Amino acid sequence: MNPYFTNPNNLLFEFNETMLEAQRKAIFAVAIEIQKEEIKNLDLYLEKISKAKKEFSEHNYENDANLAYCLFTLAEIIQLELKMLVSLKEDRMAEAWDILITCEYNLGTVIRNYPFDQDHLQNYLNRLIDYQKTLFPKMMFHSYGGIVKESHCSICKLDYGNCNHFKGKLYNGELCCRHITEVQMEELSVVENPADKRCRAISIENNGEKIDVLTLRKII
Ligand SMILES: [Zn+2]
Repeated sequence: MNPYFTNPNNLLFEFNETMLEAQRKAIFAVAIEIQKEEIKNLDLYLEKISKAKKEFSEHNYENDANLAYCLFTLAEIIQLELKMLVSLKEDRMAEAWDILITCEYNLGTVIRNYPFDQDHLQNYLNRLIDYQKTLFPKMMFHSYGGIVKESHCSICKLDYGNCNHFKGKLYNGELCCRHITEVQMEELSVVENPADKRCRAISIENNGEKIDVLTLRKII
């Protein structure tokens, strides 16, 4: 039996406790082995809250299921942030960048759907953006334009636009996505503000040599 059914406040209480502990460790100076241990601890919490979300959703407790989705995603973002710090310390810069951007996008989803005051989430988002500016160089990105020929709603599987679901919104603990199955490419351009910051220029040419944009190491 889902322990949160009997007292839904337990859901928030446990979440706050877990996040407090994880946030304390999601600081660069904290020892890498302590951060790795916290990543494992969060796995257990994520498993628990994922089960709760499933049960809420099976009972059609939509608000609770949506809240559980938000809390799961926030805990996952903190776990990702810890993974990013580990990647930085272990000299895996490209991986650290991708994780950081995933954190930013997932947090955006939570902010759009969060039922409570969002100021602290907005501050958190600003911190993730500050990380991008202070830990990584300025980069160029790829962006492509095209005409969507076929796409489906992830919730009801109908053609996207022919149902009442909106992408980026939660429905009974599930995020609505637009699954694009056919697209006609129109153009590929290099931009400063792309739709997806993970689509980036990886190398630059310097005196006939290929250089990694992040580390400035030669790419052999
Ligand atoms: Zn739909």
